[in-house]
Amino acid sequence: MLSTMQDVPLLISRILRHGMTIHGKSQVTTWTGEAEPHRRSFAEIGARAGRLAHALRDELGVRQDDRVATLMWNNSEHVEAYFAIPSMGAVLHTLNLRLPAEQLVFIVNHAADRVVLVNGTLLPLLAPLLPHLPTVEHVVVSGIGDRSALDGLDVSVHEYEELLEGRSADYDWPELDERQAAAMCYTSGTTGDPKGVVYSHRSVYLHSMQVNMTESMGLTDKDTSLVVVPQFHVNAWGLPHATFMTGINMLMPDRFLQPAPLAEMIERERPTHAAAVPTIWQGLLAEVAANPRDLSSMRQVTIGGAACPPSLMEAYDKLGVRLCHAWGMTETSPLGTMAHPPSGLSAEEEWPYRITQGRFPAGVEGRLVGPGGDVLPWDGTSAGELEVRGSWIAGAYYGGVSGEPIRPEDKFSSDGWLKTGDVGVISPDGFLTLTDRAKDVIKSGGEWISSVELENALMAHPEVAEAAVVAVPDDKWGERPLATVVLKEGATADYAALREFLAGSVAKWQLPERWASVPAVPKTSVGKFDKKVIRRQYADGELDVTTLG
Ligand code: ADP
Repeated sequence: MLSTMQDVPLLISRILRHGMTIHGKSQVTTWTGEAEPHRRSFAEIGARAGRLAHALRDELGVRQDDRVATLMWNNSEHVEAYFAIPSMGAVLHTLNLRLPAEQLVFIVNHAADRVVLVNGTLLPLLAPLLPHLPTVEHVVVSGIGDRSALDGLDVSVHEYEELLEGRSADYDWPELDERQAAAMCYTSGTTGDPKGVVYSHRSVYLHSMQVNMTESMGLTDKDTSLVVVPQFHVNAWGLPHATFMTGINMLMPDRFLQPAPLAEMIERERPTHAAAVPTIWQGLLAEVAANPRDLSSMRQVTIGGAACPPSLMEAYDKLGVRLCHAWGMTETSPLGTMAHPPSGLSAEEEWPYRITQGRFPAGVEGRLVGPGGDVLPWDGTSAGELEVRGSWIAGAYYGGVSGEPIRPEDKFSSDGWLKTGDVGVISPDGFLTLTDRAKDVIKSGGEWISSVELENALMAHPEVAEAAVVAVPDDKWGERPLATVVLKEGATADYAALREFLAGSVAKWQLPERWASVPAVPKTSVGKFDKKVIRRQYADGELDVTTLG
């Protein structure tokens, strides 16, 4: 028997209409580096999204399913694109501006993007690629930046503001199928070519509702969220959509992502929330230690994308800023788990929960699978690969313009779950602790060593700014850990002292023999430790390695 309920499709245009009317006064504030930031209300953004959709359809000929790419910082124009493109039935394709040129070229060609919206400040990046992007017919430029890089290129160039001028703000958003493609994002391709995840209107809608639940970010229109996580990194973790549902104000850093301007933004604009990967918070910590700033407005920070070192959480606790750990992937939209401890606990009792990756929200199911394919119990000790399923979890990758979706066996189980490649345990009360990525685990003499555990323990040393641990080949044990460390200025600790310090928290047989000091840990395009690069540097003899007896 079918229900008697209305079947109203879950569309991004509905989120837009809601945000621009019910929360019309909420604001997107974009940092400009000038005395005053730029401010635009949700009502204005909605009107401009309507104008943009008219321009894309009437002037540029964008039709349903056409891919429209953005190569932009976090700013209000990017939010306009976020709503206009999917709402008109086209597909928003956010491009990661930190990817190497050949990967960007691969991604744009694979998606067959017809239009690229670009910030003027990023033209030096885009222009040299354009001759290799045959599907791109139009480039739309917004904001400051020298346009001359585009001179002589075989593409039609438009000014964003001129395109919008004089057009109607009312667009008759089509009633689409909620399962239709709304946006796409490629994984950063740590192994092989990048793979495209295509989000539906339905998945974005449901994910946004989850982001807004109290057990997730739980913000309201009294809040301002500093969205440091780039809009090209899994839709800025769903924040632009979630904010239009509940009226949360957004503070957008544009290209000012360095610790000093971020600290200034927080002091001046007083956001109550922020979202970013751990390396950003490490950088900010060093900045405010050197140049104290008032961070007291921040109630909660969502931290994820890589394991958050407990020492970082402690350091921010001392500043009165609570970091809340979250886990997710491009394939999971990204919200997969979030670490809110159960209620009624003291600060001390909460701690073991806070340093886990957290619990699955109602829309996400998780299971651990052992090496033999058996599903493991949630007993806090059985370690296996995490698999997840749910309404905002990918079931396949984009197969290209004429290809079928692809489901590689190492990423999707035969019964439809996503294999995350992350290894961990789940406690009886449902808290997930990840010990490593499967490919980063150190397999030493038949035993597994968690690289993350060693890193976290090392980063708790007061003189260590950053530490990354990778597996390196070893004649006797197969693999052993190599510890690379970034020491703080003026540090006096030597490797033996660091090893001694580690011995306080990990088993003796796990202690690294090989040590190297580096000026900075190499980072991926989204600011995570790039262990692939460290392994390569070691293999090529580029690191100055000391071996302790
Ligand atoms: P990439 O795979 O290129 O890094 P993603 O952003 O999709 O791109 O990364 C997802 C991965 O990041 C996860 O599979 C996991 O390994 C890691 N990750 C994300 N959040 C956390 C977290 N809180 N703790 C540990 N690892 C995390």
